[in-house]
Amino acid sequence: RAGKSLFEAQRVGRGKIVSHGGYYASPTAVRDGLANGEFFLWFQPVIELTGGRAVGAEALVRWQHPTRGLVSPTEFIPLCEASGSIQVLGRWIVRESIAAAENWRRLRSPEGRPLSVSINASARELASDGYGAYVLAECAAAGFPPDLVRIEVTETEFGTDAGAVRDNIRLLRGAGVLISMDDFGTGHSSLARLTEIDLDVIKIDQSFVGVIDADTESPVAELAIKLAAALGLDVIAEGVETETQARWLRDRGCAFAQGYLYSRPIPAGEFLARFVETRST
Ligand code: C2E
Ligand code: CA
Ligand code: CA
Ligand code: CA
Repeated sequence: RAGKSLFEAQRVGRGKIVSHGGYYASPTAVRDGLANGEFFLWFQPVIELTGGRAVGAEALVRWQHPTRGLVSPTEFIPLCEASGSIQVLGRWIVRESIAAAENWRRLRSPEGRPLSVSINASARELASDGYGAYVLAECAAAGFPPDLVRIEVTETEFGTDAGAVRDNIRLLRGAGVLISMDDFGTGHSSLARLTEIDLDVIKIDQSFVGVIDADTESPVAELAIKLAAALGLDVIAEGVETETQARWLRDRGCAFAQGYLYSRPIPAGEFLARFVETRST
C-alpha cells in the first residue's frame, strides 16, 4: 500500500513522527480538516470564445491549513492520492461542486444558458468501485441534471486499464455526464488509443496555450483543435491569458477557453454575481 509506506517514511527513531512530507494529508487529517471547514472550492468560468459568455465552471479545491496556510492542490492532491484520503476528500468535492451548480441553476434566468460544472477526478477515485454511482446519487439528491456535470481526468490517468475505470465512465456517460481529458498533450496516449477511449471533451494543456503570441504559433494546440473536430469532441483551451491567444484559438476553431484573461478561480458567490444571468437582472 502506497499510503502506508508514505506514513512509515515519516517515522524515525523511536516511532517519532516528523511532520513534513505527506503526514499532514493523512485520512484522519483530511477528515478533521473537512470537519473544521478548512477545505473550500473556487470556480473558474469556462468561456465561449465567440460571444464571451460563461457556459460553466470548473471546481478547484483549496486547503486553508491551520499551520501551513493556504496549500496548493498541486501539493496536497498527490499526497491525498498516496495516502488514500483522496477518497473522502473527492466525495466532499463532488457534493460541494454539485451543490454550488444547483444553486446557480435555481437562480439563473430561464432564458439563460444552462451552466455546467466540471469536477476533477484523480485516477484513484475513478478506479474505485462506486465512484460513478456516487456522482449520480449526489445529482439525484440535489435535483441537479447529470448532463450538466463534466468529469475531468488527466490523459495519463486514462491509461489505467482497470475495469472499474471503464465501468465508472460507462455508467456516467450513460446518464449524460460528459468526460473530459485534462492536460491534453502532456501524456503519452497514442492516436489509436484516443479513438478507443469514451470521451467527450479535450482540454488543451496551458503549456501549449502559453507559448502563443503575435509571432509564435502552437503546433500542438492547433493539432488538438483539429483532432477534436475530427473525432467529434468539444475542445477547451486552458490558461488563456491574452487577447492574442484568445483570437488565435478562435480563428482556428477552438470554441471554449479558461484562463486569467477571463477570470482567476473565484468563490461560488462571486461566480454567481459575475457570470450567471440571474432572474432579477
Ligand atoms: P488543472 O485541473 O489543470 O487546473 C488548472 C490549473 O490552472 C488551476 O490551478 C488554475 O487555477 C490554473 N489556471 C487557470 N487559468 C490559468 C491561467 O490563465 N494562467 C495560469 N498560469 N494558471 C491558470 P490550481 O487551482 O492550483 O489546480 C492545480 C491542479 O490541482 C489542477 O490542475 C488539478 O490537477 C488539481 N486539482 C485542483 N482541484 C482539484 C480537485 O478538486 N480534485 C482533484 N483530483 N484535483 C484537483
Ligand atoms: Ca482540470
Ligand atoms: Ca488542466
Ligand atoms: Ca494540471
